[in-house]
Amino acid sequence: MPETPEPPTVEVPLTDREVVLEARDLSKHFAVRRTLRNLADRDRPVVHAVDAVNITLRRGTVTAVVGESGSGKSTIARLLAQLYPATGGQLLLSGKPVRAARGRAFRAYCRQVQMIFQDPFGSLNPTHTIRYHLTRALRIHKRAGKTSADLDKALKELLGRVHLTPPERYIDSFPHELSGGQRQRVAIARAMAADPQVLLADEPVSMLDVSIRLGILNLLRDLKERLNLAILYITHDIASARYFADETLVMYAGRMVEGGDSETVTQRPAHPYTQLLIGSAPDPDRIAVTPGAPAGAPTAAADAVSEAVVASEDDDKAGEPPSLIRPPAGCRFHPRCPKAMERCRTELPPRFDLPGGQWAACWLYADDLDKADARPVDKGATA
Ligand code: SF4
Repeated sequence: MPETPEPPTVEVPLTDREVVLEARDLSKHFAVRRTLRNLADRDRPVVHAVDAVNITLRRGTVTAVVGESGSGKSTIARLLAQLYPATGGQLLLSGKPVRAARGRAFRAYCRQVQMIFQDPFGSLNPTHTIRYHLTRALRIHKRAGKTSADLDKALKELLGRVHLTPPERYIDSFPHELSGGQRQRVAIARAMAADPQVLLADEPVSMLDVSIRLGILNLLRDLKERLNLAILYITHDIASARYFADETLVMYAGRMVEGGDSETVTQRPAHPYTQLLIGSAPDPDRIAVTPGAPAGAPTAAADAVSEAVVASEDDDKAGEPPSLIRPPAGCRFHPRCPKAMERCRTELPPRFDLPGGQWAACWLYADDLDKADARPVDKGATA
């Protein structure tokens, strides 16, 4: 009898997947302490850490937020975890507005939204065993069962889920007896003890050896696929976002500047800042397109990237992030942008939609861009 062919698997488009957590126009400003220098200022200065950010986390999807240090990425993770109160904007969990800073409402929120921190040693108490950490998490989230046999089973399941097997080998160890990768797996198991819908992973591999980073990313991907989780992946490494994330958002100086599916954003970056980020990441393909290299024709993306990098290297201000206390007017990237135009200094660029779901907050994509606009800005003038 002929075998029945397997039905083809249907890939659900990104935008059709169920939305779990959504941030609308989220902002966070931190007040600066009064000092002799700012005593005379009438208004107390604030750090504009995050301004008007929109993020949608969907089931079965990894969303990466990429940017340099100090761009506000980690503040976003803490705002979504409700560890910081937002200055403005709204959070919606499964379509319902949430504001839960403490108490029972906060615990209920944490059951749905869990966070994984960058430092797996700092996030585990060195005086307690793995059994203690996981038991505590199971009890807080009421998943420890009624008997010690139930608890034992739940602990073994958690360790098995993060591939720390056999569980007996790890369960009574202290954090210092484990490697960095094993500690991060315990931190992930602790987050999974709540059976959450959303994982907020704040640079989860940046403190680990390069050799074990891939294992942790593969574990998170496996959890996403098996449990249909929504994952926020915060990173400064755009190459890992391409490998791991379905959607990538690029952040600069507290604002989102580009977004789209990861392949498009990393292969055809539209925003000059994304082009610089990609230009600074090591890529063997780009080496192959340098003059005199043996193979490969230059791609449009590689052209754009090299042009942006070369132009920016000529600029004295390249590499200097702006002050977030007095952010530049107009486009916040204009003091460093090799393509800055006159209007970039005064007008904040809105989000312009590009083909394939990509978007960029950059005046280069304005419909009314004309030759006068495209005149390069005088970099000698102050912003
Ligand atoms: Fe550069 Fe202007 Fe685009 Fe900002 S809006 S990235 S300054 S071209």
